[in-house]
Amino acid sequence: MVMGGRLAKEEEEMSSKLVYSFGAGKADGEAGMKALLGGKGANLAEMTNIGVPVPPGFTISTDVCTQFYKEGGKLPDQLEPEIREQIARIEEIVGARFGDPSNPLLVSVRSGARASMPGMMDTVLNLGLTPETVEGLAAMGGGERFAYDSYRRFVTMYGNVVLGIPHEAFEGELEAAMKKAGVKEDSQLDADALKGVVESLKDIVKRETGNNFPDDVWEQLRGSVRAVFSSWNNNRAVSYRRLHRIPDEWGTAVTVQAMVFGNMGPDCATGVAFTRDPATGENRFYGEYLPNAQGEDVVAGTRTPRPLAKDDSGLPSLEETMPEAYKELCDIRARLEKHYKDVQDLEFTIQKGRLWLLQTRTGKRTGTAAVKIAVDLVKEGVIDSRTAVRRVEPAHLDQLLHPQIDPKAKESPIAKGLPASPGAAGGKVVFTAADAVSWAERGENVILIRNETSPDDIDGMHSARAVVTSRGGMTSHAAVVARGMGKSCVVGCGALSVDAGSKTITVGSQTIVEGDRVTVDGTTGNIYLGEVPTMEAAMTGDFAEFMKWVDEARTIGVRANSDTPGDSENARRFGAEGIGLCRTEHMFFGEERLPAVQEMILADDVEDRKKALDVLLPFQRDDFVGIFKAMEGLPVTVRLLDPPLHEFLPTSPEAVKRLAERTGKSLQKVQAKVESLREANPMLGHRGCRVGISFPEVYEMQMRAIFEAACSLTKEGVKVLPEIMIPLIGTSAEFNRLRAMCDEVGAEVIKQTGVDLKYLVGTMIEIPRACLVADDIAKQAQFFSFGTNDLTQMTFGYSRDDAGVFLPEYVEKGILKEDPFQVLDTEGVGLLVRMGIEKGRGERPDLKVGICGEHGGDPASVHFCFSVGMDYVSCSPYRVPLARLAAAQAALGMEARGD
Ligand code: PEP
Ligand code: MG
Repeated sequence: MVMGGRLAKEEEEMSSKLVYSFGAGKADGEAGMKALLGGKGANLAEMTNIGVPVPPGFTISTDVCTQFYKEGGKLPDQLEPEIREQIARIEEIVGARFGDPSNPLLVSVRSGARASMPGMMDTVLNLGLTPETVEGLAAMGGGERFAYDSYRRFVTMYGNVVLGIPHEAFEGELEAAMKKAGVKEDSQLDADALKGVVESLKDIVKRETGNNFPDDVWEQLRGSVRAVFSSWNNNRAVSYRRLHRIPDEWGTAVTVQAMVFGNMGPDCATGVAFTRDPATGENRFYGEYLPNAQGEDVVAGTRTPRPLAKDDSGLPSLEETMPEAYKELCDIRARLEKHYKDVQDLEFTIQKGRLWLLQTRTGKRTGTAAVKIAVDLVKEGVIDSRTAVRRVEPAHLDQLLHPQIDPKAKESPIAKGLPASPGAAGGKVVFTAADAVSWAERGENVILIRNETSPDDIDGMHSARAVVTSRGGMTSHAAVVARGMGKSCVVGCGALSVDAGSKTITVGSQTIVEGDRVTVDGTTGNIYLGEVPTMEAAMTGDFAEFMKWVDEARTIGVRANSDTPGDSENARRFGAEGIGLCRTEHMFFGEERLPAVQEMILADDVEDRKKALDVLLPFQRDDFVGIFKAMEGLPVTVRLLDPPLHEFLPTSPEAVKRLAERTGKSLQKVQAKVESLREANPMLGHRGCRVGISFPEVYEMQMRAIFEAACSLTKEGVKVLPEIMIPLIGTSAEFNRLRAMCDEVGAEVIKQTGVDLKYLVGTMIEIPRACLVADDIAKQAQFFSFGTNDLTQMTFGYSRDDAGVFLPEYVEKGILKEDPFQVLDTEGVGLLVRMGIEKGRGERPDLKVGICGEHGGDPASVHFCFSVGMDYVSCSPYRVPLARLAAAQAALGMEARGD
């Protein structure tokens, strides 16, 4: 549509506007304008519009920040006249003048980005003080002491933020004055002493910069605006943005606002509040205040804050000391919550008994609180259930399902690795799986720490409360297995030098020995020395109610990756609608099975191999019976053997010798076999369907075990929906050959048992070539399950087990936005997934498609799976609720949120 002349002009004026005003009941902006005005500016405008008392001011838009950087740190010429106009407007509302010696207006200059970046950027308060105006301020009601205290705060802040003088340069002055006056706190210094402090601070400025401290209030204002824009790029802010994935291009807005003082006397105060308890979600007014103080005193934490409402702390509450202001604050609490329809986090100041709001924003909350608040707001009729589903972050649910480090704990971590599996746990350090088992048997809580784990360590991992490895990435063995068990795990913790031989760990200058206590936080990746207090997971009735709404909104399925009946039952409790990946190799490691597996591998001929497999068959069948029963009525995808065979053989000379003795084979022969199976890169060697093609008896045994289990249960009336999945397919010929074998075994067992069993045969898509020829594979494959762990490995050419060495650095340096083993690389790997689905469904429109790589439990990746039309995602049991929520949010059209 072509815009009319007048409209176009208005539009142009709107977009060329640099400054947005608020105050005296009306504002140019509103809450929806966060991109332009920053969170703070947009909400100050909104509060003004709905009649909440906000000191008047104006916001310089983030567009100006962009221009400022484009012009190499120069403010646009047009800005100063707009600012002068705005200051005149504030002067009129407040009845004071900027720079007026007898009746001065003071302002604050604050940063405010689109996303909250607490404390990362700079602020200047009490701006407008000069040797003349300070006297005027004293006469306005606060007295000389207050005026000079404000002045010394201003000189310090301006000197630091605008003139770049380090804090330390100023620090000694206040202390020297206190010493001279013989007092312990700066609040005991009198006006003369503070006047002296201001003078010496100004001397420092002169010494450090060669210039006098500016007494021109306009120069002060220009300098501060420039400094706040510049603080968008200070080191703190830059690293905060990296951590929270905030784009550098957003920029900050700058809000200039009339000062109100919480430190003008005993009828003044300043404080912060949440409209509900942010820890529990309880509907009670929660917050703290300091009488006769400025906001920075609350942040500094040097004085003990007092409660808002009367409680049993014995401290005088605001309710008791300033009942009028408290009542008004309670009214505002109700109004803001009703208006924003969510919990708010407020900052307020009381000046001479009069209440002012300085900020409101959506209140950050714990997982427990997030669910309770969402459910309560629906019950109160404030929001609908779909909005409630949008409000809770997937990461919040992780907190609900696992113990967390107590937020009040003060300990600092000694090392940090990758947060592989959430939850916090403490215990004594052990170095071997066998020790983990035996120590746990005698009642100790143990933490298993190794360089890496192998399938051999399963029992030890089970016995440990948490697992830590110094090597490996997010899809390493330790990470995948621990996640499946719902056990806390940190991997790739390179700061730990683990010497399993001497059972010691060196970290920096410290040494940890066997039996020392540590605490592992798998949610953050932090490792602490000693036992740090933890909080148990809290699943409430609200959780069930909330998840019901989640499932109403969700359109794709969520399954679990599980290899045991116990884990499958767990998965079902968490809402899994089937098993998306049962890794059968995990069943090969039990005490009774491993010898038979090893005999199968060492067999001289097919006959020998079959004999060993006959021993395994009943075990496998029983495993499947257990899992099928646990998942009655739901589909179960069983993947045939995947790892290379050497993983089942020992490596140490003693163990090889024992194996030779046990199997009655010559040591030489066993050694030769171990040697012949050794692979330089096992991930790309003789594994997956390749083993099934070389040794068909192995897959045949597994297929038989699946069909026998399924048929016998069907006979008993249990509804079984088996899906047999073949791993590592790269050509249709591989698949077709194995599918024919599967149908043959199936037909035989079905005929023998005389039951009518429906089953599917499909494949993992985890080799790039399989995506390229997916149409060909889909001619025979009835379903695809994307194995994005291997697909990522092979697309990038990064080894799953070794990439941990350089991936963190890649992410830190911005070469990769995320670790692609954690968050699916939608541009590269995702393109292959998309192509695989399109080609596959082009050939077979009803092709069932899912994902079973670890990405199936990552919220952003779940959004991608939804967008490419997958039927389901599959992840470890404990991630099922989180994946259900992410899938529901994707269906509601929300953008993916990082955790
Ligand atoms: C995968 O490769 O994504 C997968 C699920 O299989 P595994 O992790 O067992 O190789
Ligand atoms: Mg794989």
